[in-house]
Amino acid sequence: MSQAETDVDVVARLTAVHERIAAAAAKHDRDPATIHLVAISKTKPAAMVERALGTGQRDFGENYLQDALAKIEALAKAEPAPRWHFVGDIQSNKTRDIAAHFDWTHAIDRFKIARRLSEQRPAALAPINACIQVNIDDETSKSGVAPDAVEALADRIAELDNVRLRGLMTIPAHTEDFAAQRRPFAALREIRERLNAAGHALDTLSMGMSADLEAAIAEGATHIRIGTAIFGARGQ
Ligand SMILES: *Cc1c(COP(=O)(O)O)cnc(C)c1O
Repeated sequence: MSQAETDVDVVARLTAVHERIAAAAAKHDRDPATIHLVAISKTKPAAMVERALGTGQRDFGENYLQDALAKIEALAKAEPAPRWHFVGDIQSNKTRDIAAHFDWTHAIDRFKIARRLSEQRPAALAPINACIQVNIDDETSKSGVAPDAVEALADRIAELDNVRLRGLMTIPAHTEDFAAQRRPFAALREIRERLNAAGHALDTLSMGMSADLEAAIAEGATHIRIGTAIFGARGQ
């Protein structure tokens, strides 16, 4: 670990994130037990994940497959076992490893990827949990399905044996304004309501990151994906 990384107090930062979650839940009339914290450990060493595990944190999100597989291997015997979420885009050549090693995928945006995950899911494992990534504010640079294409994709994924469609995920454009942060999250919630009215049973809204988790909680987030606020800045 670099000096900067060892200086990050994961335990204190996790406590502070739990305080933010509790405060937002109280303010917006949410039961905090319905808000799951996925700690995004991408690029961070297994030792930092281990420290978070020691506090009872179970869910961890990764974005880069090779980096993730090394950590999953390093923590294979950890008790209790971490639950691994793949939150990045998935290329076809990555589906076999993701199907074998992850409990969740958050960024499905093509049927082909979902079908491969279903076909390649090892028989000994429960179906992999999946969210469709929605391109909620139509940014040209972002991945995800257009809002009006979500239902058709959901209908097809729901037919797969070894993928369990749980809900929707989004990464909106960055803004500091709270009302503006809430708008795309409200739009995602409405798409889920529409799909459920059409016969789906989606229980998951994967939305909210370090900078906008309060707005996501206000709009019904069930899974918030928090990296920087727990593990410190990445890269450099
Ligand atoms: C990196 C990442 C996060 C975490 O973002 P932070 O701003 O560090 O909290 C959440 N979701 C996805 C899909 C990511 O790639």
